[in-house]
Amino acid sequence: MDDLSRFCCQNVDCSDYGQRGLANLTVCGRFAKGRRLRLLYCRTCKARFSERKGTPLFQARLSEEKIQAVAAHVVEGCGVRKTGRLVQVTRNTVTRYSRLLGRHAQAIHDELVAFSPGDRRGPV
Ligand SMILES: [Zn+2]
Repeated sequence: MDDLSRFCCQNVDCSDYGQRGLANLTVCGRFAKGRRLRLLYCRTCKARFSERKGTPLFQARLSEEKIQAVAAHVVEGCGVRKTGRLVQVTRNTVTRYSRLLGRHAQAIHDELVAFSPGDRRGPV
């Protein structure tokens, strides 16, 4: 049995959109190379979507390992050019995934942290 407690419906028109742990999701198939990705089905709105939808990995052409490597280098303070050389991707790829990962991290932070001090740098 797949643990789907971390997933939620990705259909913005669904009454269960964005809510985890409702038991409205099931796995209705597998796809991608090696059938490694699950296709999720929402019983409420009858929508189907990739388990990666709503994450920086959705429709990614880069391997998961490379994306993790880009994230690890950026987190450690490596610049865009240095990260690109070390992971063997272009600077644009590093920038694109940095933005995707940053937006996702911001959304997770906003969901999980009830209060965080204001950013002294001001709004971005
Ligand atoms: Zn739904």
